[in-house]
Amino acid sequence: MATWAVLITDGLEEGGQKILRSVCEVDDRKGISAEELLQLIGKYDALIVRSRTKVTAQVLAQAQKLKVIGRAGVGVDNIDLAAASARQITVVNAPQSTTIAVAEHTIALMAALARNLTQADASMKSGQWLKSQLMGSELYGKTLGLIGVGNIGTQVACRAAAFGMTVVGYDPYLSEEQIRERGARPVSLNELFALSDFISLHVPLSPETRNMLDGQAFAAMKRGVRIICTARGGVIDETALLQAIESGQVAGAALDVFAVEPPGLTALVAHPRVIATPHIAAQTVEAQARAAVDIAEEVLAALEGRALRWRVV
Ligand code: NAD
Repeated sequence: MATWAVLITDGLEEGGQKILRSVCEVDDRKGISAEELLQLIGKYDALIVRSRTKVTAQVLAQAQKLKVIGRAGVGVDNIDLAAASARQITVVNAPQSTTIAVAEHTIALMAALARNLTQADASMKSGQWLKSQLMGSELYGKTLGLIGVGNIGTQVACRAAAFGMTVVGYDPYLSEEQIRERGARPVSLNELFALSDFISLHVPLSPETRNMLDGQAFAAMKRGVRIICTARGGVIDETALLQAIESGQVAGAALDVFAVEPPGLTALVAHPRVIATPHIAAQTVEAQARAAVDIAEEVLAALEGRALRWRVV
């Protein structure tokens, strides 16, 4: 009765697996190694991944039967899109499933940065009472600069407005009107650097966005700016960020994503004015359940040749 074989390599919640099992043979091999993937991929019609599995040109060269790759989430930078396209393999994602979770984590990181929450907690757990040393700053009345005003940037904008922040946004792929409709005042990147007390990145990783916050960018920012990044490692030059924090140009940074993951205990991660979380912005029960259902439906639609909502290539 099973028509298609589907390989899941980074786990998928039951709601999604159930949809797939109704018409497919599902092989859940969470945590499969790169070598095993190369050996096995030839058997499958569909592959469902999160961000861990690297779907390289080498993997795709072995994927004789593969028709569709589903990314249970947003970022597709772990998939070689050019190679998939060349082999006429469809790539779909679930771009709206994790939006709220990432926006809420961004706000949580911004508030934690402003009020030194992680330092306060660590000091209490080591038996200290660092009251006067942990002077915070309010979000109210401050300017938040959003780099990228897409799904997540838009949700961050409306939550920041509720705190009484002024929101400015830079997104060269949107019109000024679209940026305004999404709750931010459109500005150039240099204006954003000059105006913002907090800067939050919500761009995909691409050749254009790689290291877009580098030494030159930090130098152009307001002294004492705080940086939040829940987008992708690689959009910030981490060496330049550490230097900017050490010099006081950047007052603090909250990072959910890193150029190399896991990064280990680097000087940046260990820095007292850096809050680091292990790529958990999308890790909510609700978001993962939504992503599983969305991607299962989309992969089935691709296999059955129906219209797609979220085709990437
Ligand atoms: P989206 O596609 O809705 O928005 C991205 C926006 O970035 C678009 O409006 C686009 O025009 C803009 N953009 C592209 N290049 C730009 C540039 N050079 N300068 C300024 N803006 C630029 O995507 P989204 O759902 O808002 O997600 C944004 C990113 O967040 C994703 O690409 C993904 O990498 C990341 N993300 C991270 C997690 C996590 O777990 N930390 C989870 C989901 C998404």
